[in-house]
Amino acid sequence: MDKVDAYISKKVQYGESDLILHLITKEMGKISAIARGARRSKKRFEAGLSNYILYSCSLGHQNRSNLFLLKETSIVKSFQFLLNSYRRISTAAYATELTALFMPENQEEPLLFEFLNHNYHLLDNPDFSPAVLVPRIMYKILELAGFPPQLDRCIHCNSLMPDTGARWGFDNNQGGVVCPDCGDLKPIVGINELKWLVAEVDELKNRRINRREYNNIYNLLSSFIRYTTRQWLVSEKFLIF
Ligand SMILES: [Zn+2]
Repeated sequence: MDKVDAYISKKVQYGESDLILHLITKEMGKISAIARGARRSKKRFEAGLSNYILYSCSLGHQNRSNLFLLKETSIVKSFQFLLNSYRRISTAAYATELTALFMPENQEEPLLFEFLNHNYHLLDNPDFSPAVLVPRIMYKILELAGFPPQLDRCIHCNSLMPDTGARWGFDNNQGGVVCPDCGDLKPIVGINELKWLVAEVDELKNRRINRREYNNIYNLLSSFIRYTTRQWLVSEKFLIF
């Protein structure tokens, strides 16, 4: 039997009382597991298999199936403050779905898991404002998953984005910004947003972006994620700006 730490990314009802769960695990990447009798047994499945909880899961193998058997769960960490706010919940939902999108199946990807875990802790911290989090989550997950958008240098001629308030366009196909000499793209992103994206959390109070910059960088990353993965994320519709 295997034990893994996991967040639930999706639940699907199966038959009378079973649930099929998509789990983002620390030890095995993304896996699917069936919880037999889950809708009846609160004893084996602590807190009723809720989202936004870090669980320790006991797994078994089933014959001729790549679906694991979820035997038992217990809570490792619940996030009470996070659950008080719609903005925090919707941000956690989005971070979880985006992580699941890039997490490989049955293969350990500790950095992606740890980043998701880190965001749960941030969103559970009353002193942290969740309003700034979404584009930073998008950028970091793209980077950890091996699709870092190039935002500081022109993707064609490699010239550095100037520190003059200039804005450059972004080429989804090439995955980077394009200087005005190399292309005639709609100007979207400037150096300020880039520095904000890569700043440490405790530097954010000194490094701010305005509403328009926020929307621009969010739209750029959202469209790049859609272009790269060909997927629409359900939870993106519920984000608040
Ligand atoms: Zn260029």
